[in-house]
Amino acid sequence: MIKIHFLGTCSGTEPMPNMHHSSYVIEYEDRLYWLDAGENCIHRAYTSGLDVMKTEAVFITHPHIDHVGGLANMLHCFEKLVVRIGKRFDNGNSLPIYFPESNVFSAVLTIAKSKPATVKDFHFDLIHREVGDGVIFDNGNVRVTAQHNTHLGIDEESQKHAFSYLFELGGKRVVASGDVRSPSELKPLLLGGCDLLIMETGHHKVSDVLDFAKEEGVGSLIFTHHGREMLERRAECEEKIAAASASSGIPMYIAFDGMDHSL
Ligand SMILES: [Zn+2]
Repeated sequence: MIKIHFLGTCSGTEPMPNMHHSSYVIEYEDRLYWLDAGENCIHRAYTSGLDVMKTEAVFITHPHIDHVGGLANMLHCFEKLVVRIGKRFDNGNSLPIYFPESNVFSAVLTIAKSKPATVKDFHFDLIHREVGDGVIFDNGNVRVTAQHNTHLGIDEESQKHAFSYLFELGGKRVVASGDVRSPSELKPLLLGGCDLLIMETGHHKVSDVLDFAKEEGVGSLIFTHHGREMLERRAECEEKIAAASASSGIPMYIAFDGMDHSL
């Protein structure tokens, strides 16, 4: 059973009631895989009862504040759990973080420790991994493939810092868009089929995403990282999505903070 825990489902807007910036956790075989770390993610995960020491890895799509604003606090929390509470990560007390921008990652460590810091300043084995196209992670249970996108710009340098991810686990293929300039940038990850596409609405019209999902034959679709259209015209969006779901036969859901989804 694959479970996805939505911790934050808002794009980088001003504060919205009962919503926080983007983050979700994929739970599989008693291990946790994080996708982005927006504000408040560790607080919601920990206080909702997830055993965060079962974290296997954290995957960051790009270094925008609505995707990494909660990462320093996550590291601070893990320090507290290890040093004060005596907990250890199940996986050899290590925490790999796939973060596609070294300079920003260094800044995150500095904020987490409130002084200039490196991975060596933490009381667990904190590992920074850069991201590039192709398979970046495989522990025998879960395989993760990265594909760059042009959300941060079309120049070569910008394309090194923004990624979408394919998770292959339990015979399923789950694609996490992150933020993309165009849904078509996800095509390389959808080639072998897609059981679930978790797609941001913050930068796209809901109808465009619906058309794309139908064209690509995705098995199911969850909308998250909500932008103005979803935030301001929710009822209208719900109607569109329900109609598209009924006509296409593709199950579609609108994520909200605290939602759990099983696959
Ligand atoms: Zn974003």
